[in-house]
Amino acid sequence: MHRWGLSRRAALSLVTLLASGASVEARSQFAPWAESGFGSAEARQLTERDLYPNGRPSLPFSLDATVAFDQRTPWSQARAIRQLRKTAAIFEACGVAIRDVTLVRLALPPQARRIDTALTDPVTGVPPTVARLAAHLPADAAYPVAFLIGRVAGTASLAVSYRPRLESETTAPYFNTAWISYQSHWLPRRDQSYSPLAHELAHLLCRCGHTKTAHRHLLHSARNFLSSAVLPDDCKRIQDSSLLSVND
Ligand SMILES: [Zn+2]
Repeated sequence: MHRWGLSRRAALSLVTLLASGASVEARSQFAPWAESGFGSAEARQLTERDLYPNGRPSLPFSLDATVAFDQRTPWSQARAIRQLRKTAAIFEACGVAIRDVTLVRLALPPQARRIDTALTDPVTGVPPTVARLAAHLPADAAYPVAFLIGRVAGTASLAVSYRPRLESETTAPYFNTAWISYQSHWLPRRDQSYSPLAHELAHLLCRCGHTKTAHRHLLHSARNFLSSAVLPDDCKRIQDSSLLSVND
């Protein structure tokens, strides 16, 4: 683990260096994510303005989350924030406001940039890369955690999330994580307000799968029928999630 320690120190001295001169980097306020096992990770806390340009609405439920993007892919801070704003707008309809989001910029090693959902651990059913990367998350990271990565291959080709099947089954670091390929983002959509991040987070919150209906909605089983609308039943399940805080 000495490798990580060295990169962390290197990242820290770079930040000190940048802070001493007026730099563009200072504007985005990324700082080393020192407690994580990702050697090059830097994090910043998103502001209310980042998520809600017109002010955060007062809603009955709040969600905290961690969103990490691989800077070696076309994902960027701006694209991550755009996904989060769409997610905030979609969840608003279910009475859920996004509160604290830690945005993490990292550089995944080449062998970890692709998640193969067909190659899974026979016992857990989780791809080894997912388990390995999730194990690098700091113990105090807010869940759900979404990774915006280069590619998802195998049985799911755009995005995938892992949720505990039983309420008691919440100890593994890969539970309540979502893995979203860049392709899922640029794929042309009929509904511009749809977000693959919202789709995967909805799976984690409602602990439910897809529903086939005559109308488009967020968790439709057919890709061409995905939209930003949330089914009332899915909203109810989302509101029951233990990942949410209930506001007074
Ligand atoms: Zn899905």
